[in-house]
Amino acid sequence: MRLLRISLTVAIAFVIAAASGLRAQPSPPARTHLVIVVDGLRLRGYVDRLDVTPSGDMRVVDYKTGSTPREAFEAQALFQMKFYALVLWRTRGVLPRRLKLIYLADRDTLSYSPDEHELTKFEHTLRAMWTAIERATALGEFRASPGRMCEWCHHRIRCPAFGGTPPPFPAGAVTEPGAAGVDAPRSAG
Ligand code: SF4
Repeated sequence: MRLLRISLTVAIAFVIAAASGLRAQPSPPARTHLVIVVDGLRLRGYVDRLDVTPSGDMRVVDYKTGSTPREAFEAQALFQMKFYALVLWRTRGVLPRRLKLIYLADRDTLSYSPDEHELTKFEHTLRAMWTAIERATALGEFRASPGRMCEWCHHRIRCPAFGGTPPPFPAGAVTEPGAAGVDAPRSAG
């Protein structure tokens, strides 16, 4: 299958693409910026590689420097792939055929083939999340969610979960229509 390369990341990405049997041409490192505004909510993400066939089929590849996530963290990886799929679907009107996260540390991959029903549900989930964030913003209330990451958190000293006092919530933190946004979550890498 002949693939038109839209963007390519580092040289190793090219090597892996070639090894997987895809015809690919090296090009300078570049990432594809995906952005869309839905009801004033800007969804935004960067993918390492986007391949498009002459017939318009799309395949997304994102490279991770770490190892394949354990089962408990696979949901986060899936969330990220759905996010990319949704933004591509909404901006180009075509569902990507396949999304792939390639973990360079153990050379393992996670793949996902989206369908419209699932992405529509995911879009509703994002909107509900944003509504909850807007509500919390209006009330100035963001509850701490302690977990494993607290160990590395730079804000721990101010965190109420550890007896700290957070600084006052800034007035008008999210006001401009279209300026509010959600970035694709970044997993390791
Ligand atoms: S220490 Fe940091 S990561 Fe943990 S709950 Fe507080 S703000 Fe969140």
